[in-house]
Amino acid sequence: MDDNKIKELREKLAYESKHAQEALGDEILGQADAYCEGYKAFLCSVKTEREAVSFAVREAEARGFRPFDRAQPLKAGDRVYVNNRGKAIMLAVIGSRPIEDGVSIAAAHIDSPRLDLKPNPLYENKEFAYFDTHYYGGIKKYQWTARPLALHGVVVKKNGETVDVVIGEDPADPVFCVSDLLPHLASEQMVKPANKFIPGESLDLLIASRPISEGEGGDLVKLNVLNILNEKYGITEHDFLSAELEIVPAGGARDVGLDRSMIGAYGHDDRVCAYPALTAIFSLSVPAYTAITVLTDKEEIGSEGATGQKSAYLPYFISDLAAAFGKEGRHVMSRSVCLSADVNCAFDPLYPDVSEGRNCAYLNHGAVLTKYTGSGGKSGTSDASAELMATLRRLMDEAGVVWQIGELGKVDIGGGGTVAKYIANLDIDTVDLGVPVLSMHAPFEVVSKLDVYEAHKAFAALLARK
Ligand SMILES: [Zn+2]
Repeated sequence: MDDNKIKELREKLAYESKHAQEALGDEILGQADAYCEGYKAFLCSVKTEREAVSFAVREAEARGFRPFDRAQPLKAGDRVYVNNRGKAIMLAVIGSRPIEDGVSIAAAHIDSPRLDLKPNPLYENKEFAYFDTHYYGGIKKYQWTARPLALHGVVVKKNGETVDVVIGEDPADPVFCVSDLLPHLASEQMVKPANKFIPGESLDLLIASRPISEGEGGDLVKLNVLNILNEKYGITEHDFLSAELEIVPAGGARDVGLDRSMIGAYGHDDRVCAYPALTAIFSLSVPAYTAITVLTDKEEIGSEGATGQKSAYLPYFISDLAAAFGKEGRHVMSRSVCLSADVNCAFDPLYPDVSEGRNCAYLNHGAVLTKYTGSGGKSGTSDASAELMATLRRLMDEAGVVWQIGELGKVDIGGGGTVAKYIANLDIDTVDLGVPVLSMHAPFEVVSKLDVYEAHKAFAALLARK
């Protein structure tokens, strides 16, 4: 056979994932780069689940979304949202088809690994004041030392008043850090396994070193901190008991690479899917199927609690939408399709041994469709059906989305989970689709601009399906 015939046969018969630039041509670069300017701005202002919900509410209301009211009738094209305790949100655009035909869902999470302040966090030790922390989600603890950190969150006073706190993002702000041992004296530390050499109890945040002036007695540095906080926020030490204060890497998103092809930032997992899931629902006018974007909380610690995906808030909302048309929620759910919008691990040439080359995701090869997550013999995954995979292939190919398949690492190496199984448990056809990430769960994660844009196109393709 001649070379052309071989090429033709290969294209017709063989599966091959390609660089999105090769698949789509250079025009896609400008579109992806322009789209990602919005994403970078989002990352710079949103570091916590609460900030993500505030962003979503603000942007949604500017586009005609209004709080969902069970007492109001709904019609095609209506745009509604439910804010779940300021930490999760669902947005819906009502479709032209009957609600009992099912809905389309894109569900991403907006919590990211971080250090949380303990309920009684403030202490003084040898003339330094510290915040004691408890880390949240899967982190490599050593990555959080010796780097600038910011404090974000809320303090809710006993009278119910909420004080918003962001310290460390404005260039004029101070930042904080967790100190680490100098290499000269770290010979004992350096031979410990990496999961041991920074104990969780040592991840404490250095916050002050000057005593309150003209004071007497002990803990004067701590008292100085309490005084500064009281002057600035009107809070006392008791108020930490009713606070959610999160320590995150300070600073915004940056272009990575001489070609500016990538974005480095804290919290791509999973805001790199949350942002496209939002822009996808914003792009709809009147979809055929009612479209829902869910931004959920607590995925990094198992989707627990009232704002996590194990909560009934999503099925309640779908039931309320169904009731508005005199239908049963369960009949809607059993005919619905959901993209569990979460990141997957990108192949890293520096660590090739953890991935299996034919079934892992590659940076720049587009959105990654993940049939199953889990670990050790598919434990803990909903494992999407062949029928659903076929539907997604068709939808994405028709919409010109560049996509690839991906598995999270080699079979016996490890694994992970997403919200997919909790949504699938509601009798909703669910599969994972998202963006490949380098250095996942690190304070500085890396994604490709092309992949972020293809994720937006993929979510839009599902939400706009005919
Ligand atoms: Zn995630």
